[in-house]
Amino acid sequence: MAVNSAELIEIINLIAHDIQENKDFLTELDSAIGDADHGINMSKGFKAVTEKISTMADKDCGSILKTVGMTLVSTVGGASGPLYGTAFMRAGQAIGAKKQLGFDDLSILLDAALEGIKMRGKAQKGEKTIIDALEPAVEVLKSSQVDTKLMNAAVKAAKEGVEYTKGIIAKKGRASYLGERSLGHQDPGATSCYIMLSAVYKAISH
Ligand code: ADP
Ligand code: MG
Repeated sequence: MAVNSAELIEIINLIAHDIQENKDFLTELDSAIGDADHGINMSKGFKAVTEKISTMADKDCGSILKTVGMTLVSTVGGASGPLYGTAFMRAGQAIGAKKQLGFDDLSILLDAALEGIKMRGKAQKGEKTIIDALEPAVEVLKSSQVDTKLMNAAVKAAKEGVEYTKGIIAKKGRASYLGERSLGHQDPGATSCYIMLSAVYKAISH
């Protein structure tokens, strides 16, 4: 994998596209255990992102990722804005001024994103959040030399993480107000995280 700045923008646009396609689904998930806005929040954030990064093909990958993060923080009102925003900003910091990304960078930036979300949201695995999808994926990527196959395995681990959220009680965010009534529902944020990781896999594997 060798992804330059223009290709990184294409990957982010693909993430935006897939989020848009799943807008109603994510909102439906959030209507069961939250306030029915996760799809709306994510779609609004990524629409702004697409616009903002459209002129950044000559910038380095770190600056592009940081811009994604800052745009999410400033346009998304819900909890997911600052969380995903911090994730992209941390990823951008970890990558720095590189103008080309390889498989190793994928692991580095997703690990930094995970740490950013954990720092910001103070959540850990098993609390029915984004972490339940992202951490298993990052663990897979850290387990061996990253290639397309390992990224596929990471996406599968994220999907299993989403399934896992159905059987646990929410401990963070709005869904935590429901206590045991959050059982049986899949977490919207874990789901959007899986959608984003699959978009990355689709982009790098074609
Ligand atoms: P809000 O809860 O403010 O309406 P969203 O609906 O956009 O924001 O996002 C909800 C999602 O945010 C949840 O499904 C959950 O995955 C994620 N989330 C909430 N709090 C945390 C946290 N502390 N750490 C990680 N993820 C969290
Ligand atoms: Mg919500």
